[in-house]
Amino acid sequence: MIETKVFSYTDEQFADLQMLRYRVDGFEQLTLQQKKLVYFLSEAALTGRDILWDQNGKYNLRIRKTLETLYTHYCGNREDEEFKAFCIYMKRVWFSNGIHHHYGCEKFIPGFSEQFFRTAVKQLPADELPLENGQSVDELCDLLIPVIFRPDIMPKRVNQADGEDLIQTSACNYYAEEVTQAEAEEFYSRCKKSHDPHPVMYGMNSRLVKSHGRLREKVWKSGGLYGAAIDRIIYWLEKAATVAENEKQAAVIRKLVDFYRTGDLKTFDEYTILWVQETEALVDFTNGFTETYGDPLGLKASWEGYVNFKDLKATERTEKLSANAQWFERHSPVEPRFKKEHCKGVSAKVIKAAILGGDLYPASAIGINLPNSNWVRAEYGSKSVTIGNLTDAYNKAAHGNGFQQEFVIDDETRQLLDRYQDDCDDLHTDLHECLGHGSGRLLPGVDPDALKAYGATIEEARADLFGLYYIADPKLTELGLTPDGQAYKAQYYSYMMNGLLTQMVRIEPGKNIEEAHMRNRALIARWTFEQGASEQVTEFVRKDGKTYIRINDYAKLRVLFGRLLAEIQRIKSEGDYEAARNLVERYGIQIDRELHEEVLTRYRALHLSPYKGFINPVYTPVYDEHQQITDVKVSYDEAYDAQMLRYSHDYATLPYVND
Ligand code: ZN
Repeated sequence: MIETKVFSYTDEQFADLQMLRYRVDGFEQLTLQQKKLVYFLSEAALTGRDILWDQNGKYNLRIRKTLETLYTHYCGNREDEEFKAFCIYMKRVWFSNGIHHHYGCEKFIPGFSEQFFRTAVKQLPADELPLENGQSVDELCDLLIPVIFRPDIMPKRVNQADGEDLIQTSACNYYAEEVTQAEAEEFYSRCKKSHDPHPVMYGMNSRLVKSHGRLREKVWKSGGLYGAAIDRIIYWLEKAATVAENEKQAAVIRKLVDFYRTGDLKTFDEYTILWVQETEALVDFTNGFTETYGDPLGLKASWEGYVNFKDLKATERTEKLSANAQWFERHSPVEPRFKKEHCKGVSAKVIKAAILGGDLYPASAIGINLPNSNWVRAEYGSKSVTIGNLTDAYNKAAHGNGFQQEFVIDDETRQLLDRYQDDCDDLHTDLHECLGHGSGRLLPGVDPDALKAYGATIEEARADLFGLYYIADPKLTELGLTPDGQAYKAQYYSYMMNGLLTQMVRIEPGKNIEEAHMRNRALIARWTFEQGASEQVTEFVRKDGKTYIRINDYAKLRVLFGRLLAEIQRIKSEGDYEAARNLVERYGIQIDRELHEEVLTRYRALHLSPYKGFINPVYTPVYDEHQQITDVKVSYDEAYDAQMLRYSHDYATLPYVND
């Protein structure tokens, strides 16, 4: 009998999360060399997992080991309510790579008691627990219980509250406990030479510590902090270099190895320059310290890794945008002095993710634009990707789930969304990534970090607005990217509905908006709502006790997006901190409590999860009798918990305590 496994995009749901699966169609058609390259790079992408856990909080590795031992060795009744609540907590910790919410950053509170935890842990085999230097099991519990249970200890991974010491009040592990925000800011402003046209990304790859009253960096490199993990990443990268698709790609990988060996940030810039210029190979990857959202000061980069290959057909779409980058720059509503004179190297492609690792796992971005160094981007361009197979999985999972029926105002608008939404979403992501982030320029002498804690929100708003402004442009229909002049309305409606209403489903009652992308969406939607209020461009409509959004004038809304784009670009170009702060604080953060409660109630009734993450496929090499790889197989049937436990076992690279 032939057994056929039906692929399902959706998998288990727990807390506010749903697991999805993505397909890596086209992998079988790669050459053996490309398959090996994907496999070796995938191993490198999974190997850095422990680094991220430790970056997210200094107790995370010990907590993970303790929880996992409890999960696998619990000898009580597994149907017990407390144990079930424990399992949910375990799955949430896995999902977040730590004890704080992956998106909102708040610590989640367990649904089981301290008493249950202590009793259960004491029954576990001691050699399976992360006991340090003769520590007893009780001492381990004494250490971990307050961290897990007490709401006042390490309440937020990243605190963005204006006016507080953002470092002292954030639980992330990028600064030693005794370092203050003022000290860190002073330390890094002294690093910056005022007229260096090619500054490195100061502070990106280190923890800032204080010893004998002096600040210094502990660098993440081979032989340094996280060295054990980094050495194993190097091992896989060196294997990958032997099967690179071309000499340029091999040089990219070798330069990255150099950087991991030395921790030298100049070498890192050289690596990103080589990486951005390698555009020929089908397979590509990111591996390293990349995004800075996890640091309240936006300097320290969390570890991430992923591997992908180009989706040739879909890439035609983004290549059209790239080829016209200069046209878009020239016609944007931004003041000429803030525009780039020569838009170069905006390479854009649609890719298929082959593996997600570090800070991209299991929750992943769907569009990525790198590198992050402003001068490298200005002089060498950037690589921008839309991850087609993840978007596809989201779309497949969303069809028919009742969401639009509940929140979209009428049938006519629902039909508009049905017809255009999936395509427009992809296109907006393309515009955001390959044109938006790459557009505009800083005025000479402006510090790229001038907007500080507001920088990320302003930057995302800039890219989103670029996309919103242009998705309505006849040029896109001319290029064959939108089917007609109506399609953009689907994007406008869903954007405004999300920014004004439905993105609140991701926020807990009583909380405000924290995450940069969400702040940006609220900022754009509320600012344009307010600016268009006198003409009722967008309005709130109440029907049967429910609130909806109606857009009365789509063309006018586009004008407002353009006006805000010009202002946001001015703020970025001039480094106008006060203006950034005013906009973000006024429009991006607060939530109307009554409306929030209503949206949450309606959303709960749908039994949907506001956040999604992905279970990775499994790659299994096939060996011949000489231990040579003859093929690599991909499969999709590993369970979520099995995958997490396997990763914790196979990719355990770091000690429990990394000082
Ligand atoms: Zn972005």
